[in-house]
Amino acid sequence: MSLSLYNTLTQRKEPFVPAEPGHARIYVCGPTVQDTAHVGHARCYTIYDVLVRHLRASGVRVTYVRNVTDVDDKIIRKASETGETPRELSARVAQAWREDMARLGNAPPDVEPCVSDHLGEIIAMIEKLVAKGAAYPSAGDVYFRVSAFAGYGKLSHRKLDDMVLGGSGRTNEEEEKRKEHPADFALWKKSAPGEPSWPSPWGDGRPGWHIECSAMASKYLGESFDLHGGGLDLVFPHHENEIAQSEAASGKPFVTLWMHNGFVESSKEKMSKSLGNFFSVRGVCERHEAEAIRYYGMTVHYRSPLAFDWTLDESDRVNGFPQIEEAERRVEYVYRTRERIAAIPAERIADDGAVPSEISAYPKALHDALDDDLNMPIALAATSTFLKAVNELAEQASRKKGKVPRAALAAAQKGFAALATELGLGGDDVVAFLGRIRARRTAARGLTEADVDRMIQERIAARAAKDFAKADSVRQALADKGVELMDSPSGTTWRIP
Ligand SMILES: [Zn+2]
Repeated sequence: MSLSLYNTLTQRKEPFVPAEPGHARIYVCGPTVQDTAHVGHARCYTIYDVLVRHLRASGVRVTYVRNVTDVDDKIIRKASETGETPRELSARVAQAWREDMARLGNAPPDVEPCVSDHLGEIIAMIEKLVAKGAAYPSAGDVYFRVSAFAGYGKLSHRKLDDMVLGGSGRTNEEEEKRKEHPADFALWKKSAPGEPSWPSPWGDGRPGWHIECSAMASKYLGESFDLHGGGLDLVFPHHENEIAQSEAASGKPFVTLWMHNGFVESSKEKMSKSLGNFFSVRGVCERHEAEAIRYYGMTVHYRSPLAFDWTLDESDRVNGFPQIEEAERRVEYVYRTRERIAAIPAERIADDGAVPSEISAYPKALHDALDDDLNMPIALAATSTFLKAVNELAEQASRKKGKVPRAALAAAQKGFAALATELGLGGDDVVAFLGRIRARRTAARGLTEADVDRMIQERIAARAAKDFAKADSVRQALADKGVELMDSPSGTTWRIP
């Protein structure tokens, strides 16, 4: 394996070397399950999915842990709106998340721990920090004493004096008064009446947000592990606080490599529910293939922001997502190419002949692009070169007396397998994928597939009766609706490009 990744801690790209040879231990901060996944989440977790796929394709065993935050103020607030208990709400939303991730082709993590199942570990870690003088109880809460940890600020490269108060947006004024220092943060919070709570040595309460990741990561990956990932917004305070808690408790370095991804942005704002530019994976999937969202997430480098736009109809209702539409066309091209080479008849396949270098070189080009800080745009560019060469092959087979080498077709299949394995693209059933796209586009034009088939039959009948004017008018009527007919010796097929 020769993967290099940008490390937020050292601020440079460096080789990723797991402490245990051949085994990468990875933790990624998971969702707070108050609402379903949006396009920004889709991009984030697709990035880490590609990381895990790439490591596995490199022969590395991966233990991938991603938590579920099911105890949080936002969940409590949201549950009071929906009329569910916080536990019912978080269980329902967590299940919806799993479905959305599966739809996007993101493999489930090896371990998916929930906060509500790990109160024992969390309380034990807080007790350890209190015993070491790195934390202090205060009026039923427990706070981390930032001044007791010399390395505070090393991930976000900030000095203690510059730290913003309540940077997580998860604190309030009364809480500030209970702290020794404004940068101290809650490990345990006393619960208000009616809120979910658990017994603890400091009274009934619930964990602060940051401690769960420290406690669960060390349980499943050890006190020191290889890679921790999450969105750029988590660098400070969440990940900075994770380092402080974990290293103060264990006395060992917490994580070797910190990986952070950029946001999906619209009008230069990070996409989040609170900003009102919220587009759920489910909502976008009503118009597009989930694989299009997946492809879209790879179109810029994972550390860069990714633009997301939509168009509105006259009534200001969303009627399109330009970037996702473009991504869907790209994904469709993968399937069309697979369809084309699968349709090459046996008599057009020759036993000899060279494999075009763009085809034979593709799996390595793809792998090399990902080795270089998971450069997905370069991987997609390599994919375009590959697809172009495979289409040239299909073109060659369709020419008069044209033949293609059997070895070239086998190499093309290897390329498609690499694409599906490394990026999770183009691996679905060709007929099913293209069928779904056609059905959706047909409906968008106010047609049914039965309408189109009926008109094609009318045209066939008109031609048989030598009524060519009528046959042409039927073709034109379909063309006006965007339906393209393809006549071949085996019959007429159609598509909506
Ligand atoms: Zn976390």
